[in-house]
Amino acid sequence: MGKSLVLVGGGHAHLTTISRMKELTDRKHRVTLVSPLPEHPYSGMGPGVLGGFYAFEEILFPIRGMVEKAGGVFLQDRVTEIDPRRGRLGLASGGEIPYDVVSFNVGSGVHDPFVKEPSFRVFPVKPVENLHKARNRILKLANEKGEVEILVVGGGAAGLEVAGNARRLLGGENGTGRITLVAGRRLLNDQGTRVRQEALRSLDDRGVRVMEGQRITGIREARGELEDGSFLPFDLCFLATGVGPPPLFRKSGLPVGEEGGLLVNECLQCVNHPRIFGGGDCVSFAPRPLHKVGVHAVRQGPVLHHNLMAALEGGSLRPFRPQNSYMLIFNLGDGQGLLTRKGMVWRGRVAFFLKDFIDRRFMRKFSAPFRGMTRSS
Ligand SMILES: Cc1cc2nc3c(=O)[nH]c(=O)nc-3n(C[C@H](O)[C@H](O)[C@H](O)COP(=O)(O)OP(=O)(O)OC[C@H]3O[C@@H](n4cnc5c(N)ncnc54)[C@H](O)[C@@H]3O)c2cc1C
Repeated sequence: MGKSLVLVGGGHAHLTTISRMKELTDRKHRVTLVSPLPEHPYSGMGPGVLGGFYAFEEILFPIRGMVEKAGGVFLQDRVTEIDPRRGRLGLASGGEIPYDVVSFNVGSGVHDPFVKEPSFRVFPVKPVENLHKARNRILKLANEKGEVEILVVGGGAAGLEVAGNARRLLGGENGTGRITLVAGRRLLNDQGTRVRQEALRSLDDRGVRVMEGQRITGIREARGELEDGSFLPFDLCFLATGVGPPPLFRKSGLPVGEEGGLLVNECLQCVNHPRIFGGGDCVSFAPRPLHKVGVHAVRQGPVLHHNLMAALEGGSLRPFRPQNSYMLIFNLGDGQGLLTRKGMVWRGRVAFFLKDFIDRRFMRKFSAPFRGMTRSS
């Protein structure tokens, strides 16, 4: 008699299990994926959607189709509560589902403590579909009023990519509209001097104003307030102020790390509930803190897949060994990439081609056999 496995969230860390789900259903396990969307957008290509390098449809993994083709069940819903004692998950729709083994890959949300009221003008960079929505809104605004004023709050990798791609959307350096990026301390503060200089030069050359040493302290209606009391008006604002796990785990009384991510051991297993696993941005890896990057989430995928199978069938678990260094390539929005690895820095078209090649290959790897499975299939 098979067991019941529930995957919560169809993010990067679950893609291996979703694409190899038949291995589980063939062994009579019942597998359910709970996700608010039938398709999962690939974040690495998200800024490229904003800039128009990719159509939104090109960056979607058809997770619903993948699950159903493998004999699993897709539930379009959101998990709002976890009851580890009873082995049940509460759903936003009001229902409950039982599990023998559950795995969480629900990603992260953008920190927005200073947004004073909900606004249709403010777009957090996560979930990634917001970048597609923002693109449509910017095009509409540009059509209606010509000049569009865009504010980007946050000077990390997402802020850089979003500002550069918004510039491209507004017609590059000779285009219309204005883009201001408020970086907090410095643009790409956790990177080396050369990376920072290249990033600054790239934005500066295209007329994107970067404000370093300044922070936004409040966002009200159509203006961002700075620490010194002055403000920046905007038509559309991107929030790229860093990400953190959702409150789900803390709220459910599960063990969490400092930021509220599900606390997992080296086998990606919850430290005191052996039937609960997790990967990606939503977990706190007990052996050492990990950056919230897709690279880790993707590499956790095969380990999670192995360990979920082991938990269902009584096998031994495998540890996840995070890479100490990895390559980063930022999409600057002008056809150039900014690559950095182990102190090496390289800006240019070839760096962008390399990123594009890696990202497209990743998309193909997981979704090529399932292409054509769209929202309605
Ligand atoms: C603009 C931008 C660009 C980036 N570019 C890169 C890059 O080039 N390279 C890189 O390595 N990293 C990049 N990152 C970081 C990367 O996005 C994250 O580290 C990565 O998405 C984490 O993957 P994940 O699987 O944990 O979560 P996600 O990919 O966010 O997936 C989480 C999934 O869970 C679903 N979900 C959420 N809540 C629930 C719930 N309650 N119940 C059920 N399902 C739920 C969501 O709908 C989503 O499908 C970028 C981030 C941003 C914001």
